[in-house]
Amino acid sequence: KVNPEPQQKQHCNVGTIGHVDHGKTTLTAAITKIMEQKGQSKYTSYDDIDSAPEEKSRGITINIAHVYYQTSLRHYAHTDCPGHADYVKNMISGTSQMDCAILLVAATDGQMPQTVEHLLLAKQIGIQHIVVFINKADLVDKDTLELVELEIRELLSDFGFDGNDCPVIFGSALKALKGEETEYGVPSVHRLMDALDKYVPTPVRDYTSPFEMPIDNVFSVPGRGTVVTGTIKKGTIKKGDDAVVLGFNEEHKTQASGLQVFKKNVEVAVAGDNVGVLVKNLKVATLEKGMLLCARNSKKISNHYVANIYFLTKGEGGRSKPIIGKYIQQMFSATWNCAVRIDLKEGQDMFMPGQHGQVLLTLIKKMVMSDGQSFTVRENNKTVATGTIVKTLE
Ligand code: GDP
Ligand code: MG
Repeated sequence: KVNPEPQQKQHCNVGTIGHVDHGKTTLTAAITKIMEQKGQSKYTSYDDIDSAPEEKSRGITINIAHVYYQTSLRHYAHTDCPGHADYVKNMISGTSQMDCAILLVAATDGQMPQTVEHLLLAKQIGIQHIVVFINKADLVDKDTLELVELEIRELLSDFGFDGNDCPVIFGSALKALKGEETEYGVPSVHRLMDALDKYVPTPVRDYTSPFEMPIDNVFSVPGRGTVVTGTIKKGTIKKGDDAVVLGFNEEHKTQASGLQVFKKNVEVAVAGDNVGVLVKNLKVATLEKGMLLCARNSKKISNHYVANIYFLTKGEGGRSKPIIGKYIQQMFSATWNCAVRIDLKEGQDMFMPGQHGQVLLTLIKKMVMSDGQSFTVRENNKTVATGTIVKTLE
């Protein structure tokens, strides 16, 4: 059983990434203008995109612009951020959940430090598809464009992206925005739209990976037993399946002896469903919100993780003082929170507010976290950091 999708166009979340001044905002404006002429977007000017209002997400403030357009194939929600720090926060906190990214590289500069940083973050948050727009093609010769293409394909491959086969488009966001019908003008935006449609698969819910559901409530049903509820993150569960509950140092084997979706008994539930699972032989007192119900032998609990983290500045509501290791606070992720110690990596002696990089996390209790899973750290109920899991350590 797969829940019916609404009978409308499929949807894809995309975002521009790349070094400052490489043309992300100009391209975003150009796309909306050109697609508006086909009745498939609403023009949003450069200034409107760049003066995007602040948005609060997961307790942190991000400047982020959302624009929308559609092709004959699907709807796109597209995000663009004004500053580098906004990109870091947006990507690390998972705010706009990009399914794919348009990487802007100005042909006049080639790859630059923020090009590399954004690609690294894209990789860590699980973005698989990148379409490259080599911008400012109006300012260089053909040889330079081809050299930049070669360089960027190598960089993408180095990061584990599909550097050989991903689409690379030469264009000029500025000429496109001005409506010029020359090769690098308007047609380059149409080539970009085609590339997105053809290269990026429509994201689908993952029905085939091992079953995973973060528990958001536990209660007992008189005469029946213990029920856990949550939204299925991955996979499929059938009535009678073996399962295990993991988290807060504990592992409890069980069996899904009953399933309910929308208060109706069902035989099968899939990713995206809100489900109540009757867990055989488990007492309410042994379970708690924040544990993970999952397929047996699919996940391990651990105290130790490597994470990418961003510390908010004082102006963003974060700390005023640097972190110098052995920093203990409360960490929030999925449906749980737990005390965590944050240690700096060897060779680093402090982390300033506004900085991002890798740290080691030690949770006071063993939990399950997947690569790419996001979390926040709070001090006195204020978010001071946001992060993404890079690796689980034994
Ligand atoms: P962002 O920081 O990546 O969002 O870059 P912007 O879109 O703000 O562009 C930075 C500057 O580059 C602006 O002055 C744009 O007008 C200019 N620019 C953007 N695209 C092009 C282009 O294709 N050709 C030329 N010559 N200039 C461009
Ligand atoms: Mg910009």
